[in-house]
This record gives sequence, structure tokens and C-alpha cells, in this order.
Amino acid sequence: MIIICKPEATDEQIGHIEDAIRTWGLKPHTSRGVERTIIGVIGPEDLIREKPLAAFPGVASVTPVMKPYKLTSYDFTHKRTVIDVGGVKIGDQKKVVLISGPCSVESREQILEIAKIVKKAGATVLRGGAFKPRTSPYTFQGLGIEGLKLLAEARAATGLPVITELMDTKDVEVVEQYADIIQIGARNMQNFSLLKEVGRCKKPAMLKRGMAATIKDVLLSAEYILSEGNMNVMLCERGIRTFETYTRNTLDLSAVPAFKKESHLPVIVDPTHGAGHRELIPTMALAAVAAGADGIMVEVHNDPEAALSDGEQAMLPDKFEALVAQMRAVAAAIGKTI
Ligand code: PEP
Ligand code: MN
Repeated sequence: MIIICKPEATDEQIGHIEDAIRTWGLKPHTSRGVERTIIGVIGPEDLIREKPLAAFPGVASVTPVMKPYKLTSYDFTHKRTVIDVGGVKIGDQKKVVLISGPCSVESREQILEIAKIVKKAGATVLRGGAFKPRTSPYTFQGLGIEGLKLLAEARAATGLPVITELMDTKDVEVVEQYADIIQIGARNMQNFSLLKEVGRCKKPAMLKRGMAATIKDVLLSAEYILSEGNMNVMLCERGIRTFETYTRNTLDLSAVPAFKKESHLPVIVDPTHGAGHRELIPTMALAAVAAGADGIMVEVHNDPEAALSDGEQAMLPDKFEALVAQMRAVAAAIGKTI
């Protein structure tokens, strides 16, 4: 930790800071410049971080020298994490994984039909919500455990591993039993009890960015999962709230290189919830591939007019197939395959 003192800091104030550092069992290393005094605090960074250094008179700023997210940081591994989900490798530098399916599991016929459609189009992971985080309590809340069972049927029928959202700590066992990847939704990104539970799971997790979460917030939420032992975490950019209302959210594609610079974890982009309108999704999906995403998650529905959630943003099967062909071309341009 580096403390920069105010230009007007007195010797007494500097001495007081140094004394406090010593009483905490840490070591001050003071360098007196012409303009300012800088104090380096030597000792375990976690211990130092807890101390209210900024509260001391004469302190201008306090800067950590290490990242607060340790296990999540790229420096921890110096190599990219590759997550194997039933043979599908997520984070492989030469591959872009396609995750697709409906917003919600609605019925056996619906999920089986859409699973076959997205598989044929090139998806290698099936998505579908059984526990749905809906803004209104009066809208469809998902089929719950029944939905999980239907996802398992769709997996058996197609061979596609499935990703589905866990909303509540009470459902962790049942979701882990049925899901191949446990999704933490945007609304729960900072539900720290839920994150810790997922950290104790054996199945990989996908952490979606909260609507008002900074890059650092997302990385610290991932740290909650990793610090409990689950190292198989992927991060998902799904758009953030801005002043713009034309789109449902503003898809922050700069999050892709930012997450990759800061972390070793694979990065997925969800242009569906980011854009919120089906005409905008293909362009953003192509841009996400070009930006270096390890995976793209797109909602597809065979009958969007009858969808129980997010029908307006679901792509039609033929349009999705056409998009996959374009995504393959973009991927090839940057030395990857889909
Ligand atoms: C979803 O992917 O089903 C979903 C609800 O997304 P988000 O949490 O990003 O809103
Ligand atoms: Mn949705």
C-alpha cells in the first residue's frame, strides 16, 4: 500500500501515521520528497487494506499495490483458464463457443424443439431458464424443478450440455444436480451468499455482469466464487444500464478486453439481453466475436410471439442459422473456429 501525504502534511501528522502503522504490526517506509512525503506500508496486503489509512489527517491518497481480486487476476495463473463442459472447451484460444436456446423453458415440446434447432445451427451448449428473475412478480416465473428436468431431457435428446440460472441458495443442490453450468444472473451478481454457495459447487459457473456493476465489481464477485474453491468460472457481459433507452441495455464490448487483461477467466458475451431487440443482435454478436469473446450466448425461439418471456428479443431459427455462418467468417478472420 502506498500513502501519498498532502503537501501541507506536518511532521507530527506523518509521525502519527507511522506510529499507527507500527502498532498494527506493519512497517512504514517513508520517503520525504521536496513536494510530498510518500509512505510505503510493508506487510500482508489484506491486513493493510482493512486499515482506515485514508482517515488519517495529512493523507492525500492511499493506493494498493496489489489487485484486490487475487485468484481471479491474470497474474495468479499467467495462463488462460479453459473450462471443459462435457467435452466443450470454453476459453480455448482457438474456439468460440455458441450457447443458445430459449429465455425460459416453457414445455417439453418447446425445449426439445428449440434444442434441436440450435444444435443444428451450430450451438454446443443449450440455455434455458427454469428459475426466472422477472422484474414483475405477476409474469411467468419459470417452471422450477420441472424445467430442470425438461432441460435434462433436452440434453439426453441432443447431447448438448445445459446452462441454467440459480436464483436462490435453497435451490443450489437441485440446480447443480441438473445443470452442466450454473448461471448467476445479472440481478444476483452481488448476492454474496449465493456466490459463496456456487463457490462450493463442483459444476462450472457463469457470472453475468450486474446492470450497474463496474469491471472491478464483477471481478470481485468472481473472487467470491473462486475463493470458495470453484475455479471454473466464466464472466458474462450482458449490457449495463446507461441513459440510453433505445436499447434494453448498453452492451459494453470493452468489457471483453478489460476482463481478459485483468483475469484468466473465459469471457462470454450475451448480445440478446444487451440489445433487447432482435434486429440489433446479429451485429452485436459479430462484434463480440471480433472483440475476442470466448463464447456468445443468444436467445432463440421457434415461436417468439407465444414466448412466455423475452419473445421480442428471441431470434428466429433461420436468422440464427444465418448469423452463425457470419460469426464463423468473423471467427476465421481472427484465427478461430466456431
Ligand atoms: C438470462 O440470461 O436468462 C437472464 C435473465 O439474463 P440477465 O441475468 O443477464 O438479465
Ligand atoms: Mn431472457
